[in-house]
Amino acid sequence: MNRRKFLHLSALTAPLLAAKKSIAGNFEAPVKPIVISTWDSGMAVNAAAWEVLSKKGRALDAVEAGAMKMENTPDCCVGLDGYPDRDGIVTLDSCIMDEYSNCGAVAGLERIKHPVSVARKIMETTPHVLLVGAGAQQFAVQNGFPLESGELSESAKKAYADWLKKSEYKPVINIENLPVRQAGKKGNGPFAPMFFEDGSFNHDTMGLVAMDSSNNLSGAVTTSGMAYKIHGRVGDSPIIGAGLFVDNEVGAATSSGLGEEVIRICGTHLVVEFMRQGLSPEMACKKAVERIVKRNPKKAKELQVGFLALNKKGQYGAYAIQKGFVFSVKSERENQIHQSKFLL
Ligand code: ASP
Repeated sequence: MNRRKFLHLSALTAPLLAAKKSIAGNFEAPVKPIVISTWDSGMAVNAAAWEVLSKKGRALDAVEAGAMKMENTPDCCVGLDGYPDRDGIVTLDSCIMDEYSNCGAVAGLERIKHPVSVARKIMETTPHVLLVGAGAQQFAVQNGFPLESGELSESAKKAYADWLKKSEYKPVINIENLPVRQAGKKGNGPFAPMFFEDGSFNHDTMGLVAMDSSNNLSGAVTTSGMAYKIHGRVGDSPIIGAGLFVDNEVGAATSSGLGEEVIRICGTHLVVEFMRQGLSPEMACKKAVERIVKRNPKKAKELQVGFLALNKKGQYGAYAIQKGFVFSVKSERENQIHQSKFLL
């Protein structure tokens, strides 16, 4: 075949090949911007993040805005209105990570309304990644974050008084599970957190990851952690590689559920590494869930962990141990809640 014939043939076949590849999903343009968040309350979080993303803003600013939305919501279990530890103190955990693998985190932070912004300040102005307890609070105050009263919200006060009757630490599988949430409602407003019929309510975490119009990824997590935990306990949420991991070449992941199980397998780092090996976000989350269950199948029946992941093509997926994990997605194509698949 001479050069002219070859060029002619290539010109004819190239569009066909391109069409075929795009059907196969190989060379499709990435869906961006996009933001995905844990649980159904992620709809409000995504809306706040979308304000930034839709104006071609940076994913980092979007995830901070999303996390702040939850921290600002009155009577919400994520921020200062969350449930306390067994000593009656609300302690907050949060982290943030950007497209350059810069990261910042706080753990056991008391009386500060926006732990995610303190985490970002640590990331951007210090040589460190994680500050804890009194040191984290001192850093926050020195950087102009107001010190709040530390008083429990009315619903937290009541729940804590009830809990003290038995003082039993027993994580609940899905407090956010949709059918269960219909059983009762704590507080008012469209995104007020729900609680079980028996009043139990002991975790809630907001994790979100986003990709902006420049194809850059970031993520953030904010939580009051497991209610009635031992004072000083830190879960997966502020631990980079456990509750959140971002690798701008590959993808990003976050988690919710019993943090100790996530820490044991470096959960979100594992999910991102599975994506690096070529797995879809959903399959990567599934493999991480299987790792937890394999370690202790009997115990796994009594606990919940859910992973949520996004890759550089804007594809997303989730997987949980038990039924009930849900997540919220916002892009130009959709704005909705999805049920996660589950293993048991
Ligand atoms: N993962 C959080 C923790 O262990 C709790 C949650 O997801 O609700 O503190």
